[in-house]
Order: sequence, then structure tokens, then C-alpha cells
Amino acid sequence: AKGAGRGTYAFFSADMQTDALEKLNLKHDLALAIDNDELCLHFQPKVNIQDDTLIGAEALVRWHHPTRGELAPGNFIPLAEESGQIVMIDRWVLEAVIRQLSDWIQAGIAPLPIALNLSLPMFQRPQFVDEVIYLLERYQVPAELLELEVTERVAMGDLDYTVSTLRALKQVGVSISIDDFGTGYSSLAYLYDFPIDTLKIDKAFVSDIPHNRKKQGIVSAIVSLSITMGLKTVAEGIETVDEKAYLRNLHCDFYQGYLFSRPVAADIFCTRYLKPSQS
Ligand code: C2E
Ligand code: CA
Ligand code: CA
Ligand code: CA
Repeated sequence: AKGAGRGTYAFFSADMQTDALEKLNLKHDLALAIDNDELCLHFQPKVNIQDDTLIGAEALVRWHHPTRGELAPGNFIPLAEESGQIVMIDRWVLEAVIRQLSDWIQAGIAPLPIALNLSLPMFQRPQFVDEVIYLLERYQVPAELLELEVTERVAMGDLDYTVSTLRALKQVGVSISIDDFGTGYSSLAYLYDFPIDTLKIDKAFVSDIPHNRKKQGIVSAIVSLSITMGLKTVAEGIETVDEKAYLRNLHCDFYQGYLFSRPVAADIFCTRYLKPSQS
């Protein structure tokens, strides 16, 4: 038994070493990813839960690694958060989204609002609001087409800073969603002070909701809270017709999920869901 134990230990330690090495390699590769043009955006439609009309999309980053193929954010965002490289990624995403909107407008396509995800260090950059304003100006994109998703964890950092930053963004015309709502700090009081537009209900509460009383209770509480506060709700990760029907009955406004569409590349999103602009 002792031998087996030692064997197990050796196995784990070798494994952990490979892990650490692999992380180091990925971090090194990530530093080159932007210069080598390896990041790209996929777009997941956000739709009205009543009639499936498109209201916008969420931009989600992907990494075309030279040897590992396409990596989802789960494979590199946590690493990038650890190393600080997340700011570089989020800045790339911010500009890429605004550039994409501008390209659509130039091509005579009527764009829809696009949302992007903000990490804590990105949101905390003192230059953040100025960067947003500068890029919108530079690419001649109306601020109304840009939406920012911040998690409760990001928003709950320094409350005064959050309120003034969100107000500044709101004043420019950018809209704000609280992402993964219900999974983080649950102080509801801040909702009074934050100038936000939307609560995104986390997939954890959506999955299997037709058969789970507790999730039903939580989601119906979130929706009535939103109605009282004048906020819209987006349910994320809807995969089945039953989940959708249940959330529609709870008066959720919008949804995203594999049931309607997975995140897709920009050209596919454009041909499938966008229309020529009038005139
Ligand atoms: P998130 O912001 O909660 O994004 C939703 C995630 O759920 C996306 O995963 C999306 O593909 C996935 N999803 C949507 N509908 C369904 C569904 O019906 N079923 C299932 N199983 N999944 C669904 P993705 O693209 O892998 O992104 C994961 C997370 O990585 C995001 O979670 C977000 O927190 C982070 N992320 C993605 N892009 C960025 C970025 O540009 N910057 C930062 N800071 N974080 C990002
Ligand atoms: Ca999000
Ligand atoms: Ca989310
Ligand atoms: Ca989520």
C-alpha cells in the first residue's frame, strides 16, 4: 500500500510539473497571440424570448493557437487573469468589436448592439472610459451600439469608482449589463446606485429550470426585482424548448443559448442575422 502511495505521489507530481510547464508555454504563446493575429471573435445572438427577433449579440473571444487549434476562453482567460495578460486581451476585444461595428456600417449593413465582457483589471484602468470614448470616436461608431457586461465581482470592487465609471459610460450612451447575476456577491442594495440596463441570469439558474423548484424561485425573484427596478433580463445558456417556455412564462425579456444559436464567426453572424441598412 505504501509503494502504491509513493507511486501515486510520483504520478501526481510529474503531472503537476507538466501542468506548470504547459501553463508557462501557453502564457508565452499568449504574449505573441495578438501580434500574430491569432485572437478572433465569435458572436452569439441575443433574442427576444417572445418572438425570437434579434436584439444584439455577445462577442466572445477565441484563440487560434498555432499548434493546439481553436481554444475557448476557459482554456486561457483564467491563465491570462493570473498573468495580467487579460488587460491586453480585453483591450484587443474592445477595439475589435468597435472595428467590426464600423466595418458593418461602412458595408451598408444595419448593425445591432454588441456586448463584450470586462475583466476586473480592465474595468479598473483609470483610462478605461477615455479609451472607450476615443475608440468610438475614431471608428465613428454610435455609443448605443456598444454594451458592456460586468460581473458582480467586477462591479463590487470599489463602489464609488464603479458608480462614477458606470455613470460616465451611461452618459456617453454605452449600456451596461450585470453578467452572471446571482452567482456573486448578492448585495441587492447596489442596484439602486448602479446605472445599469440589464441583468443577465446565469446559466446555472436556467439549466433544468422546469424541474427545479429552487431555481424557479430564484429566477422569478430576479425577474420581479428587475421589473421593479426598470431593468431588462437576459437568460443565458438556454438549451431546450422547455427551458425557454418556462423563462418566457416568468416574463424574462431576452435569451441567449445553444437552442437559438451557438456563438458563430463574424461573417456567419452577418449573413445569417444582419440586414442591409435602409436608404
Ligand atoms: P460568459 O460571459 O458567461 O459567456 C457565456 C458563455 O456561455 C460562453 O462561453 C458561451 O459560449 C456559453 N454558452 C452560451 N449559450 C450556451 C448554452 O446554451 N449552453 C452552454 N453549455 N454554454 C452556452 P465561452 O465563449 O466559452 O466563454 C466563457 C467565459 O469566458 C465567458 O462567460 C466570459 O466570462 C469569458 N470571456 C469570453 N470572452 C471574454 C473576453 O473577451 N474578455 C473577458 N474578460 N472574458 C471573456
Ligand atoms: Ca458575458
Ligand atoms: Ca454570462
Ligand atoms: Ca455564465
